Amino acid sequence: MKKSVSSSVRPWAKIGFVARSMGSYGALMAGLVSLAWHSVELEAVPSVRLEAWDASAVPLVVLDAGHGGHDGGAVAGGTLEKKLALELTLQLREKLLLKGLRVKLTRSEDVFLPLEERAAVANESEATIFVSLHLNTSSSSEVNGIETYFTERKSLAAQRALQARWALDSAAVKDERGRWLAENLQNQACLSTRAASRGIKERNYAVVSQTLMPAVLIECGFLTNAAEAERLKTEEYQNKLTEGISKGIMLFLKAHPRDSRRGIHLLAGPATAPAEEREQAAR
Ligand SMILES: [Zn+2]
Repeated sequence: MKKSVSSSVRPWAKIGFVARSMGSYGALMAGLVSLAWHSVELEAVPSVRLEAWDASAVPLVVLDAGHGGHDGGAVAGGTLEKKLALELTLQLREKLLLKGLRVKLTRSEDVFLPLEERAAVANESEATIFVSLHLNTSSSSEVNGIETYFTERKSLAAQRALQARWALDSAAVKDERGRWLAENLQNQACLSTRAASRGIKERNYAVVSQTLMPAVLIECGFLTNAAEAERLKTEEYQNKLTEGISKGIMLFLKAHPRDSRRGIHLLAGPATAPAEEREQAAR
């Protein structure tokens, strides 16, 4: 796709070596996610030359900085949503790389990218999870805090792809994984920043609906609230925010192995497009 950045996978190779050298080959088999979890403690071990870890097994996080190019997103108090969203995304990428994950960005520069293309970046690269970062606005300057969006009704195309992946019949698919990812991100981002939690919310945004993997859109705070907007511009707050989000991502990945069908349910009746998608098609 247009602009994307991938990471190296060396930290995982290191973890693999450590696990083997301890004679616990079983730990390697115990699953990627638990290894990811222990990587925090194992990072201090000196690096050793060894064969590379199987790159395809390392979770791939696609990060999507909202808006870009001629689409500035929200503007308030001299702050442009597209610019701040990209700053936060780049910081979050660094944190995730340090945790040993692979990361791909839908945009790494100030360019416009249609919503469908953002979802396509994640689908084509077979991302493990998708996280879109935005900043919020309100008609009230009092409103502040963080909220995270997900959907359990993926687009019709995404439902068909999920049916094919797990050889399911053609019944409608309910996908709970986005809710779980949203809960983890929302909780950890609010814990880390002490921002007000506005909760997780179900909405059929194109980027969360058209992506095949667990996907969320996090509204990191309100540009229309002067105090929150000021905080969001400081390095200290940005650091807390991206640390919280990265922790939420790790917690989710630990609990939900990539190839598990957990959270994918079949509903009575054939798969149909979510109402929003049908409305759009009718326009
Ligand atoms: Zn936005």
